[in-house]
Amino acid sequence: MYDAAASKRSAHIGRLRIAIRGAVQGVGFRPFVYRLANELRLKGFVKNSPRGVLIEVEGNGGTIDQFLLRIPRELPPRSFIQSLESTHLDAIVFSDFRIEDSDEEGVKKALVLPDVATCPDCLEDVLNPENRRYRYPFTNCTNCGPRYSMIRSLPYDRRNTTMARFEMCAECLAEYDDPLDRRFHAQPNACPECGPQLELWDAEGKVTATRGGALIAAADAVRKGSIVAVKGLGGFHLICDAANDKAVQELRLRKRREEKPLALMCPSIEFAMALCSISDLERRLLTSPEAPIVLLTAKKDAKISSRIAPGNPYLGVMLPYTPLHHLLTREVSMPVVATSGNLSDEPMCIDENEAIERLGGVADAFLVHDRPIERHVDDSIVRVMAGREMVLRRARGFAPLPFEVRGAREPIVAAGAHLKNTVALAKDGDAFVSQHIGDLETKEAFDAFGRVIKDVEHLYDIRPSIAACDMHPEYISTKWADRSGLRSFPVQHHYAHVLACMTENEVHPPVLGIAWDGTGYGSDGTIWGGEFLSINETGFERAAHLRTFRLPGGDSAVRDPRRTALGLLYELLGEKLFERKDLFPVVSFSDAELNVLRKMLSQCLNSPLTSSAGRLFDAVAAILGLRKHCAFEGQAAMELEFLARDSETSSYELRLVKENGSPIIVDWEPMILSLLSDINCGIPAATTAARFHNSLVEMIAAVASECGTESIVLTGGCFQNRYLLEHSVKRLRKDAFKVYWHQRIPTNDGGISLGQIAAAVRADQE
Ligand SMILES: [Zn+2]
Ligand SMILES: [Zn+2]
Ligand SMILES: [Zn+2]
Repeated sequence: MYDAAASKRSAHIGRLRIAIRGAVQGVGFRPFVYRLANELRLKGFVKNSPRGVLIEVEGNGGTIDQFLLRIPRELPPRSFIQSLESTHLDAIVFSDFRIEDSDEEGVKKALVLPDVATCPDCLEDVLNPENRRYRYPFTNCTNCGPRYSMIRSLPYDRRNTTMARFEMCAECLAEYDDPLDRRFHAQPNACPECGPQLELWDAEGKVTATRGGALIAAADAVRKGSIVAVKGLGGFHLICDAANDKAVQELRLRKRREEKPLALMCPSIEFAMALCSISDLERRLLTSPEAPIVLLTAKKDAKISSRIAPGNPYLGVMLPYTPLHHLLTREVSMPVVATSGNLSDEPMCIDENEAIERLGGVADAFLVHDRPIERHVDDSIVRVMAGREMVLRRARGFAPLPFEVRGAREPIVAAGAHLKNTVALAKDGDAFVSQHIGDLETKEAFDAFGRVIKDVEHLYDIRPSIAACDMHPEYISTKWADRSGLRSFPVQHHYAHVLACMTENEVHPPVLGIAWDGTGYGSDGTIWGGEFLSINETGFERAAHLRTFRLPGGDSAVRDPRRTALGLLYELLGEKLFERKDLFPVVSFSDAELNVLRKMLSQCLNSPLTSSAGRLFDAVAAILGLRKHCAFEGQAAMELEFLARDSETSSYELRLVKENGSPIIVDWEPMILSLLSDINCGIPAATTAARFHNSLVEMIAAVASECGTESIVLTGGCFQNRYLLEHSVKRLRKDAFKVYWHQRIPTNDGGISLGQIAAAVRADQE
């Protein structure tokens, strides 16, 4: 566990940057921020910029948190936050707090804003029987409603949105034209007279109810155990009663999603509090205009189906973010499963006719409407770790807000990686990272990939000349870059991870980048994944890596951690491995299977070498007998994390192998041998799992001290592991290192596209 108290005691001064967009200019917002900062004795500044209000404050961690939490709570009247992004940065030592002159520098750039969750005023309208928008699911105002999911092109004008087909009635038009009205120039403005309407369809697409009746019938169906596909803001959700085991099980079966956790939508924060423990930062996220899915610790007695997140102590929870979702969940009046409307990992459906085709066998009914969705935007996922917010999936509410990348001379497109793909486009110092696209495993996903690239190019009028991509020659995204006709610029996968993290944290070389993930194509053609990269001004050097082992069957080992374990143990024990009937990975295979695997390993057939940390996690999970098969990548590793007992502080011996001129090899042999003897001695798995994690933390600390670089960046999918991240941060800080990890951009492969942009920019500057 992250020790917040200890961190506070040792807290050096930190800086928090907050970028706020919304109705925050000319409403007394800056004086409000000034007063709040002074009350909390924070130093820094607030200023208006072409992008909204920019605030930077310096102080200790606890006070900065207070500041962040109090801004949305104590807003001056008439101001409204549509988007708030915060980033922890190194202190630069301000002497006081001041209101700075407006930033007029540069051209005022037109930004496409993310979708904004329903504001309290609109919710009130919808719930007030006297209001003409009573129970109208498409109510919105200047402060809230669809943006990115409905914009066709800039400028942001009704005729350039998917609302173009709806002509405003006289009353709506009067609001739209009245500068004193909350709906003045609200592009998606609509009412029951003139705007979009609901329909309920059966599985064949036949209309069974309309308008208010459709909503009530849909809620009824959910309460009775049906699965209803609901067309929302950025796509379809599949919704069912979260407490109904049978419905949840049926949903998993039909959606072909065996074990991956399902997200929940709660009618209100009170319902969420009944299911989970919620900290102040988590509460801020849940109720923010971004309204992401927040990963929360489930309460033991949470009254929901055990099939929602099997074996997982966390629940992904979000609150309703459109009037449609508010009305529907209030009508159902209990938490519902709200998972993306797709099959396994395909992109979510956005069109009702497509939904009938693709989700026909999944949903019993379809709650649809006639406002077209311009592009798919999934729900974002955020987790609070090490006392900070970390975006794990960046989509609704965040996309397509840009990151700053200085020095790009030519427009660049970055194709991203293969799994959890995002793309990015950069122009004039801004990198626009797309919404989450998904795993590029299906035709649907690859089509979406192509669409999103064209889409961002069109929205921002970017004509890239460079196509940055992964080094992996077989990635479909790499092949796209090769065929694009642009100058292809391959970037090593883990280098991209580190650069993405450096970019958002504004850290400059020298940096030791620790990039741990499942798989990435290495500069030497082997599979990397347990990397320590020394980042210099122009490139990187592989400073250290985990000892390699063979993966029998290559990629198929990802789904079967026992294979990975055999590969690891074979490296250690050789042929003797197959006599070890005390080992779970050995006895869990049939003799015939074992013979095949033995042949693969002894003759190095289809058994590539890897230094992957993710696979090391898988192997250890299998050695502990946690899991035979993985329904999704990283499942075994996640279980190992959940198992680790926090009170266990000891670790196994580690070994660094140093040879002049080659990278340090971090040898896991002593660790695995001790772990095996722990198992033989009957030490509880919770203790062993913790010792394993602690050993990895010690490895990180040992390599960091060998390299002696002050700034350490932690990146890659493995750092979604809370135990590993929090303990690494604490351990490295104890040794006086400056530690950076991801905040706004995913630490998993969703962050790769931004790293590729950063790499291309660096090369361009040489
Ligand atoms: Zn509103
Ligand atoms: Zn109207
Ligand atoms: Zn990766």
